[in-house]
Amino acid sequence: MEIIRTVQGMQEYSENRRTGKQRIGLAPTMGYLHRGHLSLVRMAKEQAEVVVMSIFVNPTQFGPDEDLTSYPRSFEKDCQAAESAGVDAIFAPEADEIYRKGFQTYVSLKDLPAHLCGLSRPIHFRGVATVVAKLFNCVRPHVAVFGQKDYQQLLVIRRMALDLNFDIEIIGAPILREPDGLAMSSRNVYLTESQRKSARALNQALERARALVHSGITDAEQVIREAAEFIQSHPETEIDYIAITDPETLDDMTTIDRTALMALAVRVGKARLIDNRMIGE
Ligand code: AMP
Repeated sequence: MEIIRTVQGMQEYSENRRTGKQRIGLAPTMGYLHRGHLSLVRMAKEQAEVVVMSIFVNPTQFGPDEDLTSYPRSFEKDCQAAESAGVDAIFAPEADEIYRKGFQTYVSLKDLPAHLCGLSRPIHFRGVATVVAKLFNCVRPHVAVFGQKDYQQLLVIRRMALDLNFDIEIIGAPILREPDGLAMSSRNVYLTESQRKSARALNQALERARALVHSGITDAEQVIREAAEFIQSHPETEIDYIAITDPETLDDMTTIDRTALMALAVRVGKARLIDNRMIGE
C-alpha cells in the first residue's frame, strides 16, 4: 500500500492508473478508522480496481468552538486496517498542502446546508463541499463512496458533483452499527461508560419512531416529541435537533404520508452524535 502525502504525488499516481485503464474508487475519511469506514472500502472495491482512501482531518469544516484539535487520530493503526481491507493507496496530506498560502476559493451550496446539521454548524458544509471537490481533483476517482450516516453530507456531495459536472459516480453506503445499535463513529471514543449507555438512545429513538409510524401515527410533531422525551430520559443527553424531512430536499414534513428521513443530532457529554433512518416506507 502506498502512502501519498502530496497533491502532485496523488495526481501522478492516479494518472498512471488511468493510463493503465484502471478504474479508481475513493473512500474519503478523517481517519481513526472503524468498521464503518472499512465497509466503504469494500463497496469501492466492488466498483473499481484501485481503491484510494483519503485520511484528512479537514480544518475548514470545523467551527471555531468544535473539536478540530482534539479529533482522535491513529495514523499507524489506520494504515494497518486500511491495508488489511485492501486499500491500494492512502492519501494523507498535511493541512497546508491542501490549503496553500493565499487560499480563497470555496464551494458552497444554496439550500441543502440550510437544514439539520447546517443550522448549528453554519460553515460545516462549505468546508465539506470544498475539501471533497479538492479531493476529487487530487484523486480523480471514477467512483466515490460516502456513508449514509452523514446523510446530509451525502446529499451535498451528490448535488455538488452534479452541479459542477464532476464525472464521478457517488455511492451511498449503509450505516454500520455496534451490536447494541449505536452508529459507529470516530467520536464514540469521547464517551465515558455511562455516556456510552445513554448514546444507545439515539438509534432506539429512531426505531421507536419507525414503529409509531408503522402503527398508523402520521403527525411528525408527535413523533418528534416522543423521540425527544425518550432521549431526554437518558442522562447527559442534550438534543441539538430531531427532524422529519423530505429525503431529497430536507424540507420539514408535517405529515408522514410517504417515506421520510428522520434525522437527529444529540450531544452526549463531549460528543456530538448524529444518526438517521427512513420512516414511513
Ligand atoms: P468520517 O471519518 O467520520 O468523516 O467519515 C468518513 C466516511 O465514513 C463518511 O462518508 C461517513 O459517512 C462514513 N461513515 C462514518 N461512520 C459510518 C458508519 N457507522 N457506517 C457507514 N459509514 C460511516
